[in-house]
Amino acid sequence: MKKLFVSIFTISLLFSCNKSTKSNEDKALDGKFDKYKDGFVTSLWKINPGWASGVGYHKYDSILSVPDANEEKIQLEFVNAQLDSLKQYNVDNLSDNNKTDFYMIKNQLEATVFSIKEMKSSEWNPSEYNVCGSFAEILNGKYDSLEVRLRAFNAKMNNVPAYYEAAKKNIKNPTVEHTELAIAQNLGGSSVFDTDLATALKQSKLTEAEKKEMLEKAKTAKKAITDYADWLKNLPNKTPRSFRLGAALYAKKFNFDIQSSYTADEIFKVANDHKKDLHEKMFVLADKLWTKYKGNEAKPTNKLELIKQVIDKISLQHTTPEKFQSEIEKQIPELTAYVKAKDLLYIDPSKPLVVRKEPAYMAGVAGASISAPGPYDKNANTYYNVGSLSGWTAENAESYLREYNDYILQILNIHEAVPGHYTQLVYSNQSPSIIKSILGNGAMVEGWAVYAEKMMLESGYKNSDEMWLMYYKWNLRATCNTILDISVHTKNMSKEAAIDLLTKEAFQQQAEADGKWKRVTLSQVQLCSYFTGYTEIYNLREELKKKEGDQFNLKKFHEKFLSFGSAPVKYIKELMLSKE
Ligand code: ZN
Ligand code: ZN
Repeated sequence: MKKLFVSIFTISLLFSCNKSTKSNEDKALDGKFDKYKDGFVTSLWKINPGWASGVGYHKYDSILSVPDANEEKIQLEFVNAQLDSLKQYNVDNLSDNNKTDFYMIKNQLEATVFSIKEMKSSEWNPSEYNVCGSFAEILNGKYDSLEVRLRAFNAKMNNVPAYYEAAKKNIKNPTVEHTELAIAQNLGGSSVFDTDLATALKQSKLTEAEKKEMLEKAKTAKKAITDYADWLKNLPNKTPRSFRLGAALYAKKFNFDIQSSYTADEIFKVANDHKKDLHEKMFVLADKLWTKYKGNEAKPTNKLELIKQVIDKISLQHTTPEKFQSEIEKQIPELTAYVKAKDLLYIDPSKPLVVRKEPAYMAGVAGASISAPGPYDKNANTYYNVGSLSGWTAENAESYLREYNDYILQILNIHEAVPGHYTQLVYSNQSPSIIKSILGNGAMVEGWAVYAEKMMLESGYKNSDEMWLMYYKWNLRATCNTILDISVHTKNMSKEAAIDLLTKEAFQQQAEADGKWKRVTLSQVQLCSYFTGYTEIYNLREELKKKEGDQFNLKKFHEKFLSFGSAPVKYIKELMLSKE
């Protein structure tokens, strides 16, 4: 606790000089910083053409960077030049929007150095090398005519062989897990160079000569990919790196990715305490609900077992595969009306959310997700993609629907849509910052959605013992994501212990737990973003409540909090507290 206090105190120094009225000098400084940001983004896209295409900036679609030593030099020179430029600005004199942008740019630059010099995943993660997705995006994108896109595709193919040659040179002691992933993903994605391209060429108005040239190059590209996969399969990798990141690197990556006022060690402890607290609350509810759902059956002596049996019974209340999408569609306006009636926050009605069946190119991953328009395509729709259950076996569909039962489905909609991700997005578009849309903080974004769930239930949404019990189960998922990630990467947690945690203590189905194990062996830190962001937002609210007493207004708090855009919570907190 003491350590935590120290880190919060350090941050408060960052914003110590806060003025209520801005001098002309400060306004000029903000103007200068705005110009700097424009230049930063322009150069960023120039040296990261793949990233640029991904956010909808298509000027460099035809360029494929080769990940060799020269490329690394270009990245480091860019970082040093930008860090130098930042030194010209006294962050205290910048506007709130520019303060947070300043820290986010600085963090991004320092994270790049960390990634190249310490993390070095380019040596041990072969799945970082994969060109297929970016070529597929050119074919699927609707941003320009097919002919223009195909010509970019054509030019971009030139570097594919050199790209994979550089990859082979970089790789030193890859992990077994990332090697397998690289083989599967590269081979799986390579169809873009045969069937997908051939179909697109047929529909296009390119000349026969151009088409022929492209098909030839595509053969070479495809061969480079299959060669890479073969090379990985035959690599004599006697001492593969462990997929576990290790405590030292993990602590640093946590700081760069989450940008929290907590360290990884601190949030680990908070998450464990929270899990205990949730179990106690769940036991009280499950015990109370026992007779309603289990009649005269004898209660298990193990508390966790008792909770599990009640949850299993409540989970039988669920919709059908056919009605899954329409059920979600029906709930969105209900949630919006509820938020309005309870005065929880204002929701701009001019940018409605469109619920749609998951488009084919996203298919395969069941569930729900939000597709937000990128920073260069602001007027596009925001979609709520719902995975279809058609074609599933009855058994798989049943298991999935029990997971997303009548209670959890509502919490999912709160998380993804109202007042979760979709609502946060509407707010962040109102305080436009290109920096926050390209470097947006994942812990703030996920933390808000997880906070929204709790806040809705606290306000009385569908209040019942069942609803709360199922909410706690859902919240355990975020909580255990954090415990799992830190335990696996820094504390050598075994697979068996991990599956035990997820199935016995977080009440997950075996399939879900298996999937999570796979995810934790392939990613690091990201699984912590949900719980860490949620904890910080919730604590900030409680702190302000205490400070403001009768003056505290929940709606105002939410609107103010969201007005800062997708910035790290620790900076939003500092700005909100300094306004007191
Ligand atoms: Zn059923
Ligand atoms: Zn989310």
